[in-house]
Amino acid sequence: MPLPSHPPRTTATLLYGPVSSRRFGVSLGINLSGPGKQCSFNCRYCFRGFNDAPAPGGGPEQALPDARTVLATLDAWLAAGGQADVVDWTLAGNGEPTDHPEFPEIIAGLVRLRDRRAPGVKISVLTNGMGLVPRRNPRAAAVRAALGLTDRPCLKLDAGRPDSWRRLAQPADGVTLDEWLAAAAVVRPLILQTLFVQGAIDTTTPDELAALQAVYARLQPETVYLLTLDKPPADADILPVPRERMAAIGRQFTADATPGSPRFLLF
Ligand code: SF4
Repeated sequence: MPLPSHPPRTTATLLYGPVSSRRFGVSLGINLSGPGKQCSFNCRYCFRGFNDAPAPGGGPEQALPDARTVLATLDAWLAAGGQADVVDWTLAGNGEPTDHPEFPEIIAGLVRLRDRRAPGVKISVLTNGMGLVPRRNPRAAAVRAALGLTDRPCLKLDAGRPDSWRRLAQPADGVTLDEWLAAAAVVRPLILQTLFVQGAIDTTTPDELAALQAVYARLQPETVYLLTLDKPPADADILPVPRERMAAIGRQFTADATPGSPRFLLF
């Protein structure tokens, strides 16, 4: 069933929430991408809509909060008693966290702040992984190391067939799936999240599922989160997958698992 057409865009401030996350519990959002929607992907299912401008040939064009501002804002939030029942800080928001030029410094600062002021809180990153691609980012190795300091580096991988992946994600700079996979393969620990869609692009066909399984085997993540749309997409021709079909995909992946396969969690 189609979701309603896309509503007026909601933008994330630097800190947003806390929200109750199905995956992470009570979670504070940290948006490194500024007030506008700009991302190195331009996903057709993005609930924040399409990018404000055509996918830029590089990083975001808007002013971004610098590392000092990010850490000082979070420090002030903690000092004001904001932590309460928050168990997770998630970097996500209006765009791609690893596109931020100071991503490594921000992660290092967040880890220090967490250890000092909020021990036990998990640090999660929802990322499209584009900051890991050396051709786009001369600091790709530092981004990889920074992701390794976090508790849950969650890389978005929504299709295993190159054409489907490109049509769905619309990556900047002509990045190919092969190029992306080479960059993602070195991330450890590694969590993948796959958001299935139907409609104008159907990633639930047998061919698509087989291609995804091949890519999982290549990347060897610890865990794969399986999701579908739960908010209106940028493109109204992209549809959510019925719950029964999602459950069947989860059962198939689990049944096909061999020793060393990831665990599959359905959300
Ligand atoms: S990577 Fe995330 S923020 Fe960027 S376009 Fe895709 S869904 Fe939206």
